[in-house]
Amino acid sequence: MSLESTWSPSSWTSKPVAQGVEYPDRQQLSKVLSKLGTLPPLVTPSEIERLRYQLSLVQRNEAFLLHAGDCAESFDACTNENISAKIGLILSFSLILIWGARLPIVRIGRIAGQYAKPRSSKTEKVGDREVLSFRGDNVNGLDIDDRTPDPERLLRAYFHSATTLNYVRGLLTSGFASLHQPRDWSLSHVRSPSLRNEFENIVEGLTDALDFSRTIGQDSGASFEHGGARSTVGEVDFYTSHEGLMLDYEQALTRECPVPKSVSSISDEKAYYNTSAHFLWIGDRTRQLDGGHVEYFRGIKNPIGIKLGPSMKDDELTRLLDIVNPDKVSGKVTLITRYGAGKVENYLPAHIKAVKLSQHPVVWICDPMHGNTLTSSTGLKTRHFHTIIDELTSCIRIHSECDSRLGGVSLEFTGELNDEGFSVTECLGGSMELSEEQLGLRYQSFCDPRLNFEQSLDVAFLISKHYKD
Ligand code: PEP
Ligand code: MN
Repeated sequence: MSLESTWSPSSWTSKPVAQGVEYPDRQQLSKVLSKLGTLPPLVTPSEIERLRYQLSLVQRNEAFLLHAGDCAESFDACTNENISAKIGLILSFSLILIWGARLPIVRIGRIAGQYAKPRSSKTEKVGDREVLSFRGDNVNGLDIDDRTPDPERLLRAYFHSATTLNYVRGLLTSGFASLHQPRDWSLSHVRSPSLRNEFENIVEGLTDALDFSRTIGQDSGASFEHGGARSTVGEVDFYTSHEGLMLDYEQALTRECPVPKSVSSISDEKAYYNTSAHFLWIGDRTRQLDGGHVEYFRGIKNPIGIKLGPSMKDDELTRLLDIVNPDKVSGKVTLITRYGAGKVENYLPAHIKAVKLSQHPVVWICDPMHGNTLTSSTGLKTRHFHTIIDELTSCIRIHSECDSRLGGVSLEFTGELNDEGFSVTECLGGSMELSEEQLGLRYQSFCDPRLNFEQSLDVAFLISKHYKD
């Protein structure tokens, strides 16, 4: 990668940083960051490069990307039940996609580090008090008396990420992901008989479908083989991601490492990898061309995502791609579009055209969540299932009209259940027809509303059927 000589893991500090956090105790922050700088990496360069390779397959229409998880993780939700439910949902979702699209699925969770949140306002009014906004568990507390940014929370975020990742790795290597036992992924609570039947049918078909096993890599066909690493039926590839928002933290986990031999033609090549996650994305609020986030992102070798909303200008998009991927490396950039169902038609075609003209290789995925948030009559932040589907289907159609292809989806969903086995009630509609009155029943998100298990499977079947037909 040809980098201007001025880049370093800390060069972002000389640029304006949107959504910056002001720590009252700077000394404590320095101490925490030095400690983070000595802790071991959470992920390795060879895993990161394997993901980049798999994303280059997505770009070439040879795989489909599923990016999904919570809007924000919390330290309290770092439990056996929540993590296994999330992984179970991601696996069920991808099984449905494989069945329809007959393509390998690249799975990236919003997990093991997705703690920080951008906010539209620095402060918020709670009752008659004006307090600092909650910025995510790695910055301050949800409790209104705990809103002062505390550097120690960055350390806690690191350890919660490590614990989560450790458990995910354990689950995936001990048979949980085996396609021989998909019924273990907690379908028992799905109350809709038609959803359950559809899923059961897939499982039945799977058992003896030879072309299916070839698609997922059991055979010598379309498996993910790279640098000797190969996924098997029992051990699926799974990658972690978060928004690269807290640059102090990202810098501390950025390490200069040897580039794995499988991807390097130069001997002893070294590069900077962000070792806190395999994949990081730049949010819609922090993608200013001259800002600190873009500066930081242009120097790391990880594959990255960029959120695109209606405020992105066509030429700004290509300039941004020139900055973060000057060598036009395949699999490096994933564009995550999130315009809103009513706006996608106005913006996506021009963005596709601009990128085509620039000849930048990108993966396009649709985030049908963030442009479709509304407030219910009872004051809860929600999203309607039909607008989510609207944006997604428009995206698929527009891409094919523009001679492009939608390579994946980015969703906020959760497999979380309460003690009685009921799913959360945060988004309206879906096959369970969740109504406004039911929203308050089990609204558990402290951030954006997530699709629950049933609503997520509805989305999976929709995409899957589209590709099957
Ligand atoms: C998010 O993905 O949770 C998010 C804040 O998205 P965006 O930057 O697109 O608003
Ligand atoms: Mn969100």
